[in-house]
Amino acid sequence: MWPARQAGNSGQRAVGSGQQAAGSGQCAVGSAQRSVVSRFGMALERYSRQVLFSPIGQEGQARIRAGVVTIVGCGALGSASAEMLARAGVGTIRIVDRDFVDLTNLQRQTLFNETHAREGVPKAVAAARVLSEINSEVRVEERVDDLTSANVQELCGGSDVVVDGTDNFETRFLLNDFSVKSGTPWIYGACVGSVGAAFAFVPGQTACFRCLFPVPPETGTAETCDTAGILSSVVHVVAAYQVTQTLRILCGHSPNAGLLQVDVWTNSWRTAPLGEKPDPSCECCGLRRMAYLTPGAASRTTRLCGRNAVQISPPSRLGVSFEALAERLSGIGSVQFNSYMMRITVDTFEIALFPDGRAIIRGTDDPAQAKSVYARYIGG
Ligand SMILES: [Zn+2]
Repeated sequence: MWPARQAGNSGQRAVGSGQQAAGSGQCAVGSAQRSVVSRFGMALERYSRQVLFSPIGQEGQARIRAGVVTIVGCGALGSASAEMLARAGVGTIRIVDRDFVDLTNLQRQTLFNETHAREGVPKAVAAARVLSEINSEVRVEERVDDLTSANVQELCGGSDVVVDGTDNFETRFLLNDFSVKSGTPWIYGACVGSVGAAFAFVPGQTACFRCLFPVPPETGTAETCDTAGILSSVVHVVAAYQVTQTLRILCGHSPNAGLLQVDVWTNSWRTAPLGEKPDPSCECCGLRRMAYLTPGAASRTTRLCGRNAVQISPPSRLGVSFEALAERLSGIGSVQFNSYMMRITVDTFEIALFPDGRAIIRGTDDPAQAKSVYARYIGG
């Protein structure tokens, strides 16, 4: 079924010499490929198999080469997307990440190795080093920073596409506001356990993120990779979708419509027919209220001097379900709670969480690290 659909969407040849080569077990190095190499010269030889794919071709490759893609969040999804985009020859790749590599990342965050984890290298820095070794023609810009309303224009401005590698709703709402305001497409991707979802948002053409998800989930109710675990295989499925949509946009094609939903463990794959048009009543793209770009709309962090702790105050006080959170965190860390406060001890951190979502994270005086810990264990 899918080859016919692919052909319908892109107008490409669905069955051709490539499939015959696959069937015979031979690599199709023939006159077509040699002529591509001669037309492009040796500098483009590395992209010859991509150029041979007719929906990309020479013109598409030139567009990819001129493209600027920002990846926000360089964990599992960001690593996988960044590597594929660098190998595809995207001209400029900007990596934004606030976190450091640790040992638990290595199971799925494919740009990183044991040396990065041992030395605690910032993910954006480690990623930039590895990507430059993979493809020295790509300009890689590393930004060790937390994306906020104050810096989103600086960090994401000038991008042709922004790829979502984040792990929390708050940053996605901010990215969505930026996208709608600036007219920049962004490719949502999320996964936890064995399930994943992805969507290509194009301002003015498709729905925006808030058309589909008007409000963030209640604090502490959404599963995260640090509470429910994650399979690396679902990461690569979602990243593959995100990269494909990015290449389609860079090459001047419309992205595929609908919300991809996949469960690699049960082998369930579907594209829900959602969000093909903007919702006129949407707070963001319909009513043009981009609250997340407003200073103060994001979580506020405060260093608690002399206590090696950071306080996090979420922007919306939605309430926390201590019972549901305690159940998800059982087996991951030590959890105690009463009606006033929940105390969570996990790794080297102690989290004091209050019913309105405010938290004090002990064990760090770095606000960015405290926000990472909050996103990993509480969600948001
Ligand atoms: Zn919208």
